[in-house]
Amino acid sequence: MTVPASVLVVGGGVAGFGTVRELRRRGFEGKLTLVDPQGLPYDRPPLSKDFLTGETDAHRLLFAPPAWFAEHAVELVTARVDRMDLTGEHPAAVLDDGTVRAADAVVLAPGGRPRPLDVPGGDRPGVLVLRTRADAEAIAARLHFGARVVVVGAGLTGSEVASAAREAMAEVTLVSASPAPAAAAVGPALAARLHALHAARGVDVVQGRVLRIEHADDAPGLDAPHRVHVALADGGEAALDADLVVAAVGILPDAALAAEAGLELAVDGGILVDAAQRTSDPRVLAVGDAARRRDAAYAAPAMHWEPALQDAADAAAALLGEDLPERGAPWFWSDRHGVHVEGVGAMRPPEGGRIVDREVRGTVVASFALAADGAMVGAASVDDPMAVKAARRIVDRGIVVDPERLADPSVPVKALLRG
Ligand SMILES: Cc1cc2nc3c(=O)[nH]c(=O)nc-3n(C[C@H](O)[C@H](O)[C@H](O)COP(=O)(O)OP(=O)(O)OC[C@H]3O[C@@H](n4cnc5c(N)ncnc54)[C@H](O)[C@@H]3O)c2cc1C
Repeated sequence: MTVPASVLVVGGGVAGFGTVRELRRRGFEGKLTLVDPQGLPYDRPPLSKDFLTGETDAHRLLFAPPAWFAEHAVELVTARVDRMDLTGEHPAAVLDDGTVRAADAVVLAPGGRPRPLDVPGGDRPGVLVLRTRADAEAIAARLHFGARVVVVGAGLTGSEVASAAREAMAEVTLVSASPAPAAAAVGPALAARLHALHAARGVDVVQGRVLRIEHADDAPGLDAPHRVHVALADGGEAALDADLVVAAVGILPDAALAAEAGLELAVDGGILVDAAQRTSDPRVLAVGDAARRRDAAYAAPAMHWEPALQDAADAAAALLGEDLPERGAPWFWSDRHGVHVEGVGAMRPPEGGRIVDREVRGTVVASFALAADGAMVGAASVDDPMAVKAARRIVDRGIVVDPERLADPSVPVKALLRG
């Protein structure tokens, strides 16, 4: 395979920037261009954590200072790619200023976009989502003492927003369709513990589904007051008044460019790639939240930070014709209400498998998913990153573990590496 003389990367999130950085780290000397309408590449996880609470500023979100791009001969183009043209000899990106950029290889890294809140009024101005720094700034500006904040969706992002809003002394209501919303990520017992933490920290938790959002006209003088109507899980209906509504109901892969260019898509709309991150057009690779691997060992798409970075490493290696790096089970973290959550692998055990919970004085601190043969396939913990670190090695090696020792908090998880 010939190493391309020029590479164009579309999107400067962790996957796109990671690809650029990894290409240079591996010695790629060709022309390298990164296009993103948001300018200097920045990191997203702090947006729902320290950035929202004001403990981190925009400067500290940057992956690299401006000088890095000149030092590494990376051309940073602040523009949006409107369309990909794959009909010519070289793949080309048509930018929103009308210019066309062609390269020997293109890496698509457009990330994900928030799933819209698909109810009447779900698109009202002031019903905010959180994906970009500008989104976070808009939310942060409205988080203050006494502000009535309704967060719709209690997954990882919604929970973090609720936590940050409480820290700002806002009056927070969290609407969750499920009593244990993060169960797929951390298992049912830890999910229930984490969900209960919201109420313990003063968040009003409402179980139900939002029906519609209207203007709350009996709240004059407030900026964008809303009335959120919720069908409650117990069959009733509630109306919540809010100064701010944050919709955190999931992320969709942003595959618009790929779809329009005729690249093959996965059933959920992500861009289908092989183990080398190549799309159905081998000159075009895709990485990060927008990409879906054909060979995925884990049914659910990862859509987390570290898998996006692993995609970047794979793409860079593939472009240079080098061996692909070893890749283990996907890992993620999340922080809310002062607790740190980590997970690895798949927490929905395959058929015949089971979940083993580890408790300390009646509180679940970690959960492990085992396959029918006893091999660990997933793990999650609260405030015990070492347990997940060890579990990750166990999962990656497919080690069969003793469920009794796994449940015993006096046995360090790493002791089970020996089986
Ligand atoms: C608020 C928040 C908190 C998170 N917290 C965690 C966490 O705690 N732990 C964890 O593991 N993961 C977390 N994640 C997930 C993680 O950040 C994502 O998985 C990761 O950002 C995906 O990287 P990406 O590069 O694929 O996409 P993105 O980070 O979305 O970057 C995509 C980039 O592409 C650009 N782009 C899009 N379309 C175009 C176009 N047409 N032309 C040019 N550029 C384009 C966008 O402007 C954007 O900069 C969080 C995500 C968010 C939003």
